[in-house]
Amino acid sequence: MNASLREGDPVRLVRADLAGFGGYASARTAGLDGDTWLNANESPWPNAADADGALRRYPEPQPAALRALLAELYGCDADRLLVGRGSDEAIDLLVRALCRPGGDAVLITPPTFGMYAVSARLHGTAVIEVPLLDTEASRREDWFKADFAAIRRAATAGPVKIVFLCSPGNPTGAALPLSEVEALAHSLQDRALVVVDEAYGEFSEVASAASLIDRQPNIAVLRTLSKAHALAGARIGSVIADAGLIAVLRRCQAPYPLPAPCIEVACRTLDAEARARTDAGVAVVLAERERLRAALAQSAAVRRAYPSQANFLLVRFHDPDAAMDRLLDAGIVVRDQRAATGLGDALRITVGTPEQNNRVIDAINDLESTQ
Ligand code: PMP
Repeated sequence: MNASLREGDPVRLVRADLAGFGGYASARTAGLDGDTWLNANESPWPNAADADGALRRYPEPQPAALRALLAELYGCDADRLLVGRGSDEAIDLLVRALCRPGGDAVLITPPTFGMYAVSARLHGTAVIEVPLLDTEASRREDWFKADFAAIRRAATAGPVKIVFLCSPGNPTGAALPLSEVEALAHSLQDRALVVVDEAYGEFSEVASAASLIDRQPNIAVLRTLSKAHALAGARIGSVIADAGLIAVLRRCQAPYPLPAPCIEVACRTLDAEARARTDAGVAVVLAERERLRAALAQSAAVRRAYPSQANFLLVRFHDPDAAMDRLLDAGIVVRDQRAATGLGDALRITVGTPEQNNRVIDAINDLESTQ
């Protein structure tokens, strides 16, 4: 740990061997100006298939216009935001910048999104699991709550550098209370970064944890344009964190992470009109989510359709194999959760169009009548 930094500065959590690491100095390094750019070995003329020459040059490493639009969207300062190739890249960057290869650990709360453990394993970093508490038995509404006391114990007992929380959780759909996230981060200050993955934040009633970073700078938040913004193919994800930590992550990132056409389309999807359309789409998904859940909950084939703060439902079936087969027979592909911790009888169903959701309901009702 870099002891010269002030107490609570999350840059203290960065790998000691990366202190002073400048990363790659790209040809787009700020501070240079001129009208004839001959410093990046680019072609002097466009490709024949690229009529307006938009692709001739390397893109900006952190495109200022996109970064400003994203910062406005997420309500943070632009210097607190790093944009990259989906939140998948952000997860990878955080693991590589904070955990020593072959050492340290990340903590995850299964059942949860798979990429935290994949990035850690690829980096030689241990994965410590503190399962979510499934309060299904008591039928309480705080389903799949994180076991914050156990997380705190595990994170202080070992070399945990990152705690990955997913809120709303994939595949559970449950959101975590901000007060508990803040208290956890406070107790892990100068020990670990608490990463709150808000890939499904637009569908949730719980506010973003980004508002906590001022008070608790060892919190980082992941956001993405892949879900509510319908831009999964463009691969635009953001990490919001302390500005010093963002500068470190930038130095660990590839020189030109975002393709120029993706930057361009992402900027277009963030003007006021496009954002209003996105909001309208989210409203439809929320209404459909509740309709689908109510219909599935009534089916005799369903053991439990959990409430969800995301754009999917986690559903337990009496006979999950029959449910999976019946849906596939109807041409509907859902996410199999049967191998996930504590979810041997569960499938995760993305909320689709009203017509698609009707097909799901019909298939499950059909299953009920054949049982
Ligand atoms: N986090 C969660 C919780 C996800 O479910 C996903 C995608 N399934 C991601 C991150 C990755 O999203 P992106 O497309 O931004 O890489």
